[in-house]
Amino acid sequence: MTAQHEPTPDSRRLPWLLDLPAMDAARFAAVEDKAAAVLHTTGDVVTMQGEALLPLESCIRSAAGPGTTALNVITGPYGETFGTWLRSTGAHVVTLDVPSSRAVTPDEIAGALAEHPAIDFVSLVHAEAATGNTNPVDAIGPLVRAHGALLMVDAVASVGAEPVLTDEWGIDLCVIGGQKALAGPAGVSVTSVSERAWERIAANTRAPRGSYLSLLDWKSRWIEPGRTALPHAPAQLEMLALEQALDRIAAEGLPAAHARHAATARALRAGVRRLPGVGCYVVEDAHAAPAATTLTAPDGTDARTLTADLLAADPSLPLQTATGTDGPVLRVNHYGAAAGLPTVLDTLAALARATAPDAPDVLEAARAAAESAWEDAR
Ligand SMILES: *Cc1c(COP(=O)(O)O)cnc(C)c1O
Repeated sequence: MTAQHEPTPDSRRLPWLLDLPAMDAARFAAVEDKAAAVLHTTGDVVTMQGEALLPLESCIRSAAGPGTTALNVITGPYGETFGTWLRSTGAHVVTLDVPSSRAVTPDEIAGALAEHPAIDFVSLVHAEAATGNTNPVDAIGPLVRAHGALLMVDAVASVGAEPVLTDEWGIDLCVIGGQKALAGPAGVSVTSVSERAWERIAANTRAPRGSYLSLLDWKSRWIEPGRTALPHAPAQLEMLALEQALDRIAAEGLPAAHARHAATARALRAGVRRLPGVGCYVVEDAHAAPAATTLTAPDGTDARTLTADLLAADPSLPLQTATGTDGPVLRVNHYGAAAGLPTVLDTLAALARATAPDAPDVLEAARAAAESAWEDAR
C-alpha cells in the first residue's frame, strides 16, 4: 500500500458501513422466515439479491415458455412489462386491459378464463402504487386455482399496507420488496414459491438455470441442502435493512400497519372531495390502494404542473406524477413512515393553497372531512 492509500485522520472518523460481522446462513434464513410470516406462507421463499423486477422477471421466465397460454392482467405500468417478458418466452399472451382508474373484477377474470380454457398462467399486480388501485386477489386466487393455472402476483406495493395472504388466496408466486409500505430497502426481494409452481418450473426446460435469474438455482443450492450455506456473498446491508423493516412492522403489528395505511387513503380521499376541481382518480374507495392515492388536477391544469407547483411549495411532500390510462395524474405516496394523518393534512393544505388560494374555508372543510374519515377508519 502506498502512502496515498493510508486512511487520513478525517477518513478514520467516518462511519464504516461495512464494519459488520459477515452475514451467515442462519441469519439470512431468519430474515427469510420473517418475510414468509409477512407473506402468510408456510411454503418456500427465495430471496433474490436485487430489486423486485429481478424476481418478477425470474418468475415469468421460470414458469412460462412456448407451451404457455398466459392471462396477463394490466391495471398499470408493471402489467405492461410482464406482457413483454411473457411474449419473449414464446408464451401465447391473452391480455386483459383494465382502465387504471379501477380494479379488475373477479367476473372479468372468470370471463377470460372461460373464453380461453388453455390459460395455464396468470400474472397480476396486487396494488399499483403507480396508478393507485388495488385488485381483489382474495377473490381472483380461487378462480385461477379452480382453472388449474399458476398465479403470479406482484405484491410489492401492497405488502405492509394491506393483507397479502399467499397460501389462503392460492398465490403460487408472490413477489415482495421492502421499498414501499415496509419502509425498507429496494435492493433485495422475496418471492414465495408454491409446490405447484416448483413442479411447473422444474418441467420447463427453458427455465433459467445457472443464471442470476434462476429460481431453480436457489432451490438446489440453498433450499434443498437445508439453507446452511449461502450460494454467494449476500447483499448484507440490504438484508440487514430488510430485517430491520420486518422487525419494525412486526412490532407495530401487521393489522395496525394495514389500518394506518387504509385510514390514510380514506382520509385523503375524503378531504380531496372537498377541494373544488381536484378529483380521486380511482373512482371507488374499495378499489383504492392503501399505499398510494392518485388525484386528477382541476380542468385546464396539467397534473405535471400541479405536482411541480406543490413540490416547489413543500418539497417534503411525498408526491410525484404518474401516468394513468388517460394521461398524467398526481400521485401521493403515503406508504411506510408517510402513512398517517400528517401526510394527509399537509397534502390537503398544499392542494388548497394551489387550487383555492382565496377560499380558506375550503381547506377547513377538507381538513375536517379528512380528520373525521381518519377517526372512522381507525
Ligand atoms: C414499486 C413497485 C415495484 C418495484 O418497482 P420500483 O419502481 O423499482 O420500486 C414493482 N411492482 C409494483 C406494483 C410497484 O408498485
